[in-house]
Order: sequence, then C-alpha cells, then structure tokens
Amino acid sequence: MTSEQVKEKVMRDVSKSLNVRVKAVRKTRSGGVAIETVSESKLKRLAECAKFGDAGLKVEMPQKIGPKVIVYDVPNELTNDDFMKEMYENLKGRVKEDEFKERVRIVSRNSKKDATCGNVIMKVMSKVKRNVCEEGRLYVNWKAFKVKEFVNVMRCHTCFAYGHMMRECGEKERLCQKCGQNGHIMKDCKRECVCRNCKLRGSKCDHSVLSEECPEYIRALARERARVNDE
Ligand SMILES: [Zn+2]
Ligand SMILES: [Zn+2]
Ligand SMILES: [Zn+2]
Repeated sequence: MTSEQVKEKVMRDVSKSLNVRVKAVRKTRSGGVAIETVSESKLKRLAECAKFGDAGLKVEMPQKIGPKVIVYDVPNELTNDDFMKEMYENLKGRVKEDEFKERVRIVSRNSKKDATCGNVIMKVMSKVKRNVCEEGRLYVNWKAFKVKEFVNVMRCHTCFAYGHMMRECGEKERLCQKCGQNGHIMKDCKRECVCRNCKLRGSKCDHSVLSEECPEYIRALARERARVNDE
C-alpha cells in the first residue's frame, strides 16, 4: 500500500468506528487525503477523534473562503474607482459605507484581446452578494450589467480532473480533451467522446469532460460552494 492508501484506510476505519458515513475520498493538493461526509457536525466529530493523531495523521477542517461575484462585460474605460463608487450607489441604504469600503474589492478584471469590455471578479461580503445576486443586475451609468455569484472550480489543464493543478498532476502530457487518452490532441481525435472524470468513477461518461452538466463537475462545484463563508 502507498502512504496515501494507508491514510485512506485509516480514515475509512475511523469513520466507520465513529459511525460517520463517508461520501467520498479524494487526494488533495498538499498530498493529504480529503473526505466528504454528510454533514459538518459529523466532520467535526471526525476531526476531534484522537485515533488520527495516533496514526500520525493531522486533521484539518476545510478552510472557508469569502464570497465572490462576477460582473459581466464591463467597459475597459470604466476605472476601478468609478466602478466601486457606482456599485456602492446600487447598495446605498442596505450596506454601510465604511463596511463596503473595507470589505468589497475588485480581485481581477479580464478582457480578451482587442475587446473593449471584460468581466470583473469581486470579493464581497455575504450581504452584498445576496443583494446584487438577487437583482442579477448592477447599474452603472444607466447601463445594467449581469452579475452572478462566482465560484472558482479548479480544474487541471493536463488531465481535466478537479482538485489539483497542472504541476501536481500525475500525467506527463496533456490528455485529449475529447476522449481523455494520451498520445494525440483533440483536433486529431477519432474516438468517441468520453468524460475521463466520470469514467474514473465508473459512471456514465458519454459527455464532454468540460460539460457543466457533468456530475463530477457538479460535485466539484458543490464542494467549492460549501467552502464559501456565507454568514
Ligand atoms: Zn491532472
Ligand atoms: Zn482523443
Ligand atoms: Zn463527467
């Protein structure tokens, strides 16, 4: 057994002995093993169990991250300062100004080459997220911009799996995006479309690995969403 398999076995045994049902087990970026349970309280019960320490395992609860929103197609000519001012105008009376100034900020602005507008990703507080996402629109200079909650699902560019990045990938070369095999690129692929992530799990896999309806994607999205601190 590899050390990861040993860790996984300990996890499963301990979970079983504490009567905690494990929904899924997967490797993490830092070489650990992550488990998903049915509820946070059960996870806490697991984390507090001394048996992990005895087996040389360190248990950490997943780290929470702040909520984010994405605003679509914002003109490049609009400065960050003006954008922030206008955004606050949208929320006046519902959010305190000093709190807004302190806790809401632009994380990134991207614009495709030669485009005159791009998407703005913002770190917000839950109250702001709820307000703007409920409306679905942000008004700036009499124009309405589409806004949505932003959840960043990390996907490996080499093998398309969720939960690790390229440099932590076990595959040496980029796999074919269509069939998930190596040795060729999608442009030259003559095989059937196979979602590698679903195939590895042993479920129905006749869809694109990039599909937003892929159950593995939906699971990864839910995992990421669960990390968002929504108080
Ligand atoms: Zn990978
Ligand atoms: Zn292929
Ligand atoms: Zn899939």
